[in-house]
Amino acid sequence: MIDLSNKTALVTGGSRGIGRAAAIKLASRGAKVAINYNVNKTAALRVIEEINEINQVAIAMPGDVAKSADVKAIINETIDKLGSLDILINNAGITRDNLLIRMKEDEWNAVLDTNLKGTFNCIQAAAKKMIKNRTGTIINLSSIVALSGNSGQANYSASKAGIIGLTKTAAKELASRNIRVNAVAPGFISTEMTKSMPESLLENISSRIPLGRFGSAEDVANLITYLASDEAAYITGQVFVIDGGLDI
Ligand code: NAP
Repeated sequence: MIDLSNKTALVTGGSRGIGRAAAIKLASRGAKVAINYNVNKTAALRVIEEINEINQVAIAMPGDVAKSADVKAIINETIDKLGSLDILINNAGITRDNLLIRMKEDEWNAVLDTNLKGTFNCIQAAAKKMIKNRTGTIINLSSIVALSGNSGQANYSASKAGIIGLTKTAAKELASRNIRVNAVAPGFISTEMTKSMPESLLENISSRIPLGRFGSAEDVANLITYLASDEAAYITGQVFVIDGGLDI
């Protein structure tokens, strides 16, 4: 069984969906957990309650990952309140879908700022702390559309492809300090992000998934928890597709 006791994790966007499931799973394996959220304080506090109910320590912190000052404050507060930062899950992400020729500059900027620059901000601030401790692991949320593209998601797929390059570069730069950096690339996962898709599209996608269903947030949380653990001590710079076989 994966043992994360004596470890501290920060999950960005931990108030809902995959981030929520990852925070709860990491805590269930013994980690002290800090979750960040953007605006949804009620949901974030509910996650803290769920973690406290399994007798684990958790704190919640608001902040916009696109803003480097917010990120520095989040990382500092995590270390001040929980004692260290061993595991960083860069999960916060948004979509602003539109066809390429109609996409507004605001839609492009919002998605690139949150998804790609936000991931960079968090890696940079966390790595400075992890380097001093000579240990750490970072997991970035990419997507299968980074590899395949997706109509209506020029901004989102570019941000998620950027995360793959960022992951591999960070892995190379930080490996000598015993810091591992990996990415997970989920397919279609049942969360609020996918809930707004039209029913006909959801059915069409489901019919093309060999395992016959959308993934759950817990499916992705299981992979994240494995990669965060010492069981994955020799894995860095990799991208793990988790999509029910959609890409085969
Ligand atoms: P979700 O349910 O929409 O939740 C998004 C989370 O990100 C929320 O906690 C939200 O906080 C937070 N967030 C958004 N903007 C933020 C910002 N600027 N600063 C800090 N936090 C911010 O999303 P999800 O479906 O769980 O997706 C999680 C990650 O997996 C994303 O990176 C997404 O791109 C990726 N992914 C998802 C799927 C899928 O099918 N669902 C597939 C591939 C990849 P608030 O609650 O405060 O708004």
